[in-house]
Amino acid sequence: MNIVHHGAKTGVTGSCHELIVGKNSLLIDCGLFQGKETRETLDIEFDINNIAALLLTHSHIDHIGRLPWLLAAGFAGPIYATEATAALVPLMLEDGLKIQLGLNSKQCQKALALIHQRIRPVPYDCWAQIVLPTGELIKIRFRPAGHILGSAYIEIQLPTNEIVVFSGDLGPKDTPLLTDPIAPTIAHTLVIESTYGDKPQHQFKQRQQVLKQIIERSLQDGGAIIIPAFSVGRTQELLFDLENIISEADVDPDESSKRIWQSLPVILDSPLAQKVTEQYRYFHELWAKEAKQRRYMGRHPLAFDQCITIDNHADHLELVNRLQHSGEPAIIVAASGMCSGGRVVNYLKALLADKRTDVIFAGYQAQGTTGRALVDGEKVIKIDDQVIDVAAQIHQLSGYSAHAAQQDLVSFVADIEQGPKVIKVVHGDLEAQTALAKELRKVKPEAEIIVAASE
Ligand SMILES: [Zn+2]
Repeated sequence: MNIVHHGAKTGVTGSCHELIVGKNSLLIDCGLFQGKETRETLDIEFDINNIAALLLTHSHIDHIGRLPWLLAAGFAGPIYATEATAALVPLMLEDGLKIQLGLNSKQCQKALALIHQRIRPVPYDCWAQIVLPTGELIKIRFRPAGHILGSAYIEIQLPTNEIVVFSGDLGPKDTPLLTDPIAPTIAHTLVIESTYGDKPQHQFKQRQQVLKQIIERSLQDGGAIIIPAFSVGRTQELLFDLENIISEADVDPDESSKRIWQSLPVILDSPLAQKVTEQYRYFHELWAKEAKQRRYMGRHPLAFDQCITIDNHADHLELVNRLQHSGEPAIIVAASGMCSGGRVVNYLKALLADKRTDVIFAGYQAQGTTGRALVDGEKVIKIDDQVIDVAAQIHQLSGYSAHAAQQDLVSFVADIEQGPKVIKVVHGDLEAQTALAKELRKVKPEAEIIVAASE
């Protein structure tokens, strides 16, 4: 057995790992390189003749984005994923291919039709069998990773009975919407992500309270509150918290708080986020206990009365125009999360110069994005050749990360009862990989720990 990293060996995008078993191999994820890691060509540069199957950990574009190129290169095997990931992959790809890669509709539809034919949804916690051309059997099992809907780490049992685990992206513990990842019992070899391998624990407990305070303060002078959010994961977490704030305000003895929240529209203006939210609602069986309880109580955590969705572009433009002229209070949740595209851009262009506007960032803002410029406090910014004097208030909110921080990653490994003998740390910058490896040595002193970025 051997593992080759075709992506995310260093850095956090382009995830693609090949598990070679004798003459055959399995591919784990086939993601797009993004941001500063973007490559000149999307073509698959490795030999795919012996790849028996592709396994997908989750539907983020940096884990699935090169799938159309894998198919174009001639990959003809099955694609295994959890049921929710299988439902999200076409949505995420369609959006990613059109927006980031500029494919036309026909090319998109062709790739999506092929994926539809090949994808094999497997429920969580059930073993599925892959028969290699040699007749040997490999068993695979998807386990909840708590990162986004459908996300999984994958246990792979080789013909030798050896178990190799690929973590995919692991989510943090104690978030209310998705279940926590539970460590595997046995792993002989573990390939683990380290995105936040050097970061302290996130503050999830206070995030709803902080969100509420920022919004209440922002509403004092009226105006719109813009929350740029990624379509999958963060949008749903935000809606979930907003519904809870509204629900709690309903029984709040403080009449002023009640008044503020009862009439405040929450506008979800992102077609992709809307479709993804529908999938989150459909797969409610995968929710964590707290979210399920709210649902059983008759509440609709992701589709509440005050949540208004905007479908077509004309309605979107009309709303931007209306808010610009009326200054009426409203919360707008729109993609993209870093303001580098998507409908949020039109809101920013129309409303950033208005001092009543508030922008709440709930996620990391990469260098070079409009989001980063705003978070850095730049007072004059340029969007699509339009120069804007920023008068809006800019806020940053923590606690909405979809990635496990160092302590959660370490306890995931520490909780493995048997093994691992070998741990390969991937999917992180060198500093993050090194910091995580150092901590892992403390909990698994007997394991050989490899920092992929320095290999
Ligand atoms: Zn991810």
